[in-house]
Amino acid sequence: MKKCLVLVITRFAPAPTGYLHVGHVLNAVYVWGIARARGPDSRVLLRIEDHDRTRSRPEFEAALLEDLQWLGFAADGELVRQSERGAIYERALDGLRRRGLVYACECSRSETGSGPYPGTCRNRAFPEAVGLSLRVRLEPATERFNDLRLGPQEQRPFEQCGDLVVRDRHGNWTYQFAVVVDDWLQGVTLVIRGEDLLDSTGRQIQLARLLGRDEPPAFLHHALLMKTATQKLSKSDGDTGVRDLRSRGWTAQQVIDRAIALAGLSPDDLLRQALHF
Ligand SMILES: [Zn+2]
Repeated sequence: MKKCLVLVITRFAPAPTGYLHVGHVLNAVYVWGIARARGPDSRVLLRIEDHDRTRSRPEFEAALLEDLQWLGFAADGELVRQSERGAIYERALDGLRRRGLVYACECSRSETGSGPYPGTCRNRAFPEAVGLSLRVRLEPATERFNDLRLGPQEQRPFEQCGDLVVRDRHGNWTYQFAVVVDDWLQGVTLVIRGEDLLDSTGRQIQLARLLGRDEPPAFLHHALLMKTATQKLSKSDGDTGVRDLRSRGWTAQQVIDRAIALAGLSPDDLLRQALHF
């Protein structure tokens, strides 16, 4: 028997860097489906992940909100924007700084390559300055967690990615840092997201613990939408934008059914999964 989460606080957290597509819709079906199946006290928070100031656009945010409403997904409580939470992230960073876990790094992405960061600046003690990124020292530890769909997982974040960038050289908070702080301070107990993000879960759990969160959230990684049995559906494949489908006369229920079908599921499968967790 899997761990039973009686009360769930989860979130739907789109980035306003484009329009809502059926991949978002599948995620929303899981998020709202599981929360609603857990009873009236469970909550879905809505968070706009606009930490990337160069790619986020207010018009995309407005369109996302409008499409969500049209689909019938209503959040509980006020929406939160990462772009308005800089002071919160700064305070969280300060906690890590005081414990000597943060250092400035001058390496560019071309220098560090695609592998794990080798720790070049770990002991250089650069003063923090514009043009330098900030990293958090990870522990060379194994993170074990039980994904609610995929079962027991084991990851070694330090070997996968090395010390994590929390603020980039342009002063932008990174996705990993902002998300972990938000999930912690908003009391999120269950993170529901696509299985393409599974690799980064161990580092999020370790970062949450370093920040002071005693009990990290539970995770559920769902399947992605597929074009064929082996090919992932991408935004460029067409027929995936909620706006386009709407303008062609699709109903909200048809869009939701399409997302579920493209994931190879039936509505009954989803409900069964939602009730099981
Ligand atoms: Zn460096």
